[in-house]
Amino acid sequence: MSHPGILYPRLTIVGCGLIGSSVARAAREHGVVGEIVICDASAAARERIEALKLGDRVTGDVADAVEGADLVIFATPVLAVGDAARAAAHAFKPGCTLSDVGSVKAAVSEALWLAAPAGVFVIPGHPIAGTEQSGPDAGFAELFENRWTILTPREIDDPAYAEAIARLGAFWRALGAQVEIMDEKHHDLVLAVTSHLPHLIAYNIVGTAADLEEVTQAEVMKYSAGGFRDFTRIAASDPTMWRDIFIANKDAVLEILGRFTEDLQALSRAIRWGEADKLHELFTRTREIRRGIIAAGQESVEPNFGRDRGKH
Ligand code: NAP
Repeated sequence: MSHPGILYPRLTIVGCGLIGSSVARAAREHGVVGEIVICDASAAARERIEALKLGDRVTGDVADAVEGADLVIFATPVLAVGDAARAAAHAFKPGCTLSDVGSVKAAVSEALWLAAPAGVFVIPGHPIAGTEQSGPDAGFAELFENRWTILTPREIDDPAYAEAIARLGAFWRALGAQVEIMDEKHHDLVLAVTSHLPHLIAYNIVGTAADLEEVTQAEVMKYSAGGFRDFTRIAASDPTMWRDIFIANKDAVLEILGRFTEDLQALSRAIRWGEADKLHELFTRTREIRRGIIAAGQESVEPNFGRDRGKH
């Protein structure tokens, strides 16, 4: 792929934790932005962002941060995006693109569209890449490589909007991602299955184990390699981020949770009645799904898991 050059003279990132700092690092490394301005609400995070030299300018004031930006990416927890966008609304440059990286799209998109003044382009986004770490030290430039980024623009017949979508797609491709355009509600249903429900199960199973009085905490740690350890990794994900995801994607999560509960009941019946064939048939089918994921090159959730991430 030929280098696209500078796509946005000034990029502003609002919320510079794992994802925001990875965008900053990757955008810098791939030379697709001129200047990077970073806004973060946390004084401790700002100190780290300065020390890591992630931006050309760092501030805690969102309106000051977005002034003159050609692309603004909100990378805060999802329920914080609306307030931040509203606080900055008077300062957006006409013609700039507003996007985000939130794990829920319909609610965040609505908040961005409501906050956006006329003349700016709202194109919500979600890179399907991450780890259970958080904070600016945890990010890395390669996070998006070979991962999907989903963009959920609205269907608006405007050549300037189409050009803004194409430019944002080129930005994510330059960061190594593959780009897909999707309807925001469909995104939320797909992610409820592939990400939100698995996290809910992990939070629940780790909570259940922690509450079991007959099994000691020491035994839970000692024998965790039997499957539990993978759940504890997922259940270590940021509590604020995940609280916001479940609140913001309530409808889709409840829909999928209903289906899941029915299937769990069926499994429970199969175990109770010793229906070995039924269990074997399901476990064979699920193994095929795992093989399909590996074949699609998406088997590793965190491509560089294990590298030195600092103290966050
Ligand atoms: P993170 O590491 O916790 O970073 C979020 C940062 O935003 C924190 O420094 C936080 O400061 C700051 N912040 C909160 N409210 C703010 C505001 N109003 N203005 C400016 N800064 C604010 O979170 P993350 O893991 O990067 O996640 C960020 C977004 O990416 C979320 O919407 C999440 O759904 C999405 N996402 C995450 C992953 C993942 O695997 N982590 C993957 C894909 C997408 P405080 O600490 O003071 O709150």
